[in-house]
Amino acid sequence: MRVPPFHSPLRGIGLEEAWHDHSECPIGKSIHPHDRILGTGCSLARCKFCVLLDEPLSNTHTDTLLPLPHYPPEKARIKTLVNTW
Ligand SMILES: [Zn+2]
Repeated sequence: MRVPPFHSPLRGIGLEEAWHDHSECPIGKSIHPHDRILGTGCSLARCKFCVLLDEPLSNTHTDTLLPLPHYPPEKARIKTLVNTW
């Protein structure tokens, strides 16, 4: 879910110099609400996780999925097992 842009003045583990606008962003969620400043800040880039989360799933995953390994049909596998007994 989109939220108003915010950033944090704190720098530490998991905190990048970026602003966030997605409620499910792991980095954005790690920023305590008390430490959030509304707005995009100065010369900050939009968080890459927020960008990814904002894209439709069909665009982000179908092209990057590796083809599934080919397994023989179940009947052929059972026959092979029977023959080895
Ligand atoms: Zn983010």
